[in-house]
Amino acid sequence: MAVVKQGKVDMKTNRISQRIQKTQNYLEKKYPRSKIQLSWDGRSVHAEGDSPTVSERHEIGVFIVKKWHSIRGYKGLVNDMTVGSKTEPSMKLPDVQDSLLDNKAFDVVIIGGGVIGCAIARELSRYKLNIAVLEKECDVAMQASGRNDGMIHPGFADNPSTIKGRLNSRGNRLYHRLDKELGFETKWPGSYFLFKSRLLRLAVPYMNWRAKRNNVDGTVGYHSARCIVKAEPHLGIQQHGGYWMPSAGVASPFRVTVAFAENAQANGVHFYFETAVTGMDMVRLPSGREPKLPGSVRISAVHTNRGTIRTGLVINAAGVWSDKVAGFAGDRFFSIHPRKGMDMILDKKVGVFLKTIVGMPDLLSSSKKHSKGGGLIPCIEGNALVGPTAREVYDREDYSTDVCDMPQLEHQIKMNFCLNLQDVIAYYSGIRAADWEEDFIVEGSEKVSNLVHAAAIQSPGFASAPAIAQDIVKICIQRIQSFSGCPVLEKNFFRPVRRALPELSKMEDDERNELIAGDPSYGKIVCRCEQISEGEIRDAVRSCIRLGMKKVTVDAVKRRCRAGAGRCHGGFCRPRVMEIISRETGVPMTEITQKGGLSLVLGGTV
Ligand SMILES: Cc1cc2nc3c(=O)[nH]c(=O)nc-3n(C[C@H](O)[C@H](O)[C@H](O)COP(=O)(O)OP(=O)(O)OC[C@H]3O[C@@H](n4cnc5c(N)ncnc54)[C@H](O)[C@@H]3O)c2cc1C
Repeated sequence: MAVVKQGKVDMKTNRISQRIQKTQNYLEKKYPRSKIQLSWDGRSVHAEGDSPTVSERHEIGVFIVKKWHSIRGYKGLVNDMTVGSKTEPSMKLPDVQDSLLDNKAFDVVIIGGGVIGCAIARELSRYKLNIAVLEKECDVAMQASGRNDGMIHPGFADNPSTIKGRLNSRGNRLYHRLDKELGFETKWPGSYFLFKSRLLRLAVPYMNWRAKRNNVDGTVGYHSARCIVKAEPHLGIQQHGGYWMPSAGVASPFRVTVAFAENAQANGVHFYFETAVTGMDMVRLPSGREPKLPGSVRISAVHTNRGTIRTGLVINAAGVWSDKVAGFAGDRFFSIHPRKGMDMILDKKVGVFLKTIVGMPDLLSSSKKHSKGGGLIPCIEGNALVGPTAREVYDREDYSTDVCDMPQLEHQIKMNFCLNLQDVIAYYSGIRAADWEEDFIVEGSEKVSNLVHAAAIQSPGFASAPAIAQDIVKICIQRIQSFSGCPVLEKNFFRPVRRALPELSKMEDDERNELIAGDPSYGKIVCRCEQISEGEIRDAVRSCIRLGMKKVTVDAVKRRCRAGAGRCHGGFCRPRVMEIISRETGVPMTEITQKGGLSLVLGGTV
């Protein structure tokens, strides 16, 4: 019997080796300069070599996945090819080095304080567990979660067979409850997918099928060109009708992330900023110890720049670095290829010309780029947003904005004849954590019994975050229970509600006057563009301190109360904001930074 089994294994190994060789031969011929070397580790294809350009490296990755995706046992591509003989830029680490966390122990450690890590922390804080969130930056939402479009996608765009397709509409629905519980604002303007050609009408039955399969909410369907112009009178392009999805919404991505984090913290979660995970210690499990759990190893300790932590379970929510974090535990079966997206924000004065979310994706090119094609979005704050673009890059943390993305943005802004490049008040970019399968990884590790991945969460990760958090928490609870043999109990005192900080510009006169009468600092306007008072800035600083931030930055205040987010970008209010930060934290103004690290605002005293 054993001989037959061994024979089958050998045959399978032979078949895989032949397939690897065939793929390699083809790629060597097509891309001779890339010096490709492929190998197989039992579940993933590994690619090494050196491509002359990012786009060639990308083409190679896409080709491998196309050929291997449907092979039984294949799980992912680990593409370690370099570009232009340069090693990949490494993770930017915090300057801090201390032993704050040495000998601390937690039941659960969450790596990453983006919207995914924070949503998981909040959902997990329902249970009697000692939880820590480790974030290498000085605040939450510093990477993709603070650099996206804030669109709560309806859940239509992704294939129903993908995890994205399964989770997006559930995430969208959950936002209707979360905005009330956590005190952040949402708006539901709906979205139009405009048709470039009359022929696209033929696809409407398929679109209806897909919307149904993906559980997209609301009465979706075809709207004629005339009907669309009635709803969106300033359209500046020729369209042939479009597909309407009323459940598309918008929210502020940083406010949502902060709300998850603050509520998690109020329910006992510890946040550690400027804390980067740099490695892990593994132990082999004694055989027969954990019959119900997959994996033969376990993480016993997590190394950081602030000491070594013992932990029962690790959640990998590390965004663009999630493959490297998986690698610390020896579980790197996927890799991230960073995809940059650039956006432009327009002045609030033109926000009135945009009522709904509109996009006219070129289906062929956007499916190749795995992007939804960008478009126009009426932001929650009243500005119009144009973008995002989609471009493969090499550096996972290079947030520069590039002139080469402008033609795409110019094309998008022209969709509305009232919007103009002169109205742009800011440009920004973010990096999507795309893996080669172009899908989320939401699962318990197959190799490491106490590791759970919420990895490769690209778009629509913001929209799906609440659903991802629910699924991850289910997996975590199962794993902890199987390992400990005891049930994980829910807290009796979980507080689902977070009170948002007062926002004067959204209040009725009576309410505002009452607040000012109680505390005159709410009557002193500091940020004139956004009409933010001293009291609101002080509240924002205090909320940073409560969350455990040691260094409150100018941008952290902006993320919470919008001081400095207006047309002048803090040109007028920054010194006052810094004074308030300094007064509340005791840190001299000369040590306050714009966004952490070396971004000091003042050069010294005169
Ligand atoms: C331009 C753009 C537009 C987008 N628009 C939308 C949209 O409209 N709607 C939508 O649904 N989605 C959108 N997305 C996608 C969305 O932003 C992401 O899916 C989501 O933010 C991912 O969240 P995250 O927590 O996984 O990643 P991140 O926000 O990147 O968080 C990961 C965190 O992990 C930290 N970290 C990494 N490594 C370590 C380590 N070793 N130790 C400690 N900390 C570590 C990082 O510092 C980071 O803060 C967009 C993305 C981009 C780039």
